[in-house]
Amino acid sequence: MSENALKVLYRLHNSGYQAYLVGGCVRDALLGKEPKDFDVTTDATPEQIKGLFRNCRLIGRRFRLAHIVFGREVIEVATFRGHHENNDEGETKVSKQSDHGQLLRDNVFGSIEEDAQRRDFTINAMYYNIADYSISDFAGGMQAIKNKEITLIGDPETRYREDPVRMLRAVRFAAKLDMHISPQSGEPIKRLAPLMANIPPARLFEEILKLLLSGQGLATYKLLSEFHLFEPLFPQLAPLLLQPGSRENQFVEQVLTNTDNRINTGQRVTPAFIFAAFMWYPLEERCQQLMVEGGLNHFDAFNLALNDVMHRQIQRIMIPKRFSTPIREIWQLQNRLPKRYGRRAYQMLEHPKFRAAYDFLLLRGQIEGGDLLELAEWWTDFQEADEEQRKTMLEVLREKEGAPARRPRRNRKKPKPKV
Ligand code: ATP
Ligand code: MG
Repeated sequence: MSENALKVLYRLHNSGYQAYLVGGCVRDALLGKEPKDFDVTTDATPEQIKGLFRNCRLIGRRFRLAHIVFGREVIEVATFRGHHENNDEGETKVSKQSDHGQLLRDNVFGSIEEDAQRRDFTINAMYYNIADYSISDFAGGMQAIKNKEITLIGDPETRYREDPVRMLRAVRFAAKLDMHISPQSGEPIKRLAPLMANIPPARLFEEILKLLLSGQGLATYKLLSEFHLFEPLFPQLAPLLLQPGSRENQFVEQVLTNTDNRINTGQRVTPAFIFAAFMWYPLEERCQQLMVEGGLNHFDAFNLALNDVMHRQIQRIMIPKRFSTPIREIWQLQNRLPKRYGRRAYQMLEHPKFRAAYDFLLLRGQIEGGDLLELAEWWTDFQEADEEQRKTMLEVLREKEGAPARRPRRNRKKPKPKV
């Protein structure tokens, strides 16, 4: 267990507060998995927590909590949450609810028993007590682990309305922990999936990363689709996936399979690649439409479509610049990879995004075959070839494609002599 988490627990305990480990770390430890991070809960208020730790930041508005920062490790400390009184105005300083039943502010404090009722799933409401090393299981989480069942605490519809992200979390835990969603907890999801539109795009970006980069991305994606949760996240791609076995479906599944393999063998992955892939066919379609209906040439249509598709996507999921820039580069390089004459092939190899763009092309080639596959294989060979072989490859290419022999250099105008 994390030493830093222990420090936090003991400091709280020795200062007279209750202190428990809760949530994913207790659940994962009981499942024999290594916990990803450590969440602490206490009866100390955020201000009292701040008073105890110099390395403490208070964060969040909807859900205020403390982050205790130890270099790269952050221990999250939350105060026990209590029930919300149903008052007529529906709004106080600490509690606020929307017309759809969504909790816009969840800062009513309470007891540990109330806190357990406010958590999402039974498997996430187990508390490890530092005072006597016991585990308190208020909602039947132990049994749910035995049954491999994801069960929401309380009335499912109410709890999903309070926070629609719980629907995504249900799917994420089911896929990641190889469990199933209980029938009662699964039933309302398809119906309530459109509520996802009320979640701020920045929060959805964080959730998407957790969903697709868990090492179980393919299984997660299939569950998202099954529960109609994929459509509100990727509204441009979803309609293209209606035909099972289509190239769009194959492409998406292959991207996720490769991502899972990379994660599970400790290789680096970038969300940019997945996002680029999820928007690629919508981009091609939009580009075609702009050429046919708008009479634009391919270059202009592609650039316009690229902006369109990106713009529509970020209405749902905010994509930070550090990812949207590489996404655009991967797309744009797809148009440059076929152009290999002269020095271009060599310049391409030097491009910082060459590797990602080549992987992307290879994937497209594997799905679509034909010229695309041939092009991708050419690049595979070109990378592996030595200098002599590369020259030959470019010669062969020139002959085969009937390209003009080296263009004669234009005579540069001599600068006018100064008078
Ligand atoms: P992970 O392995 O992804 O960290 P986790 O269960 O620890 O899984 P966190 O997002 O770290 O997930 O949240 C910690 C705990 O806080 C959860 O186990 C759950 O008890 C509670 N929690 C988190 N998000 C919600 C939510 N939207 N609604 C209710 N309870 C939540
Ligand atoms: Mg956690």
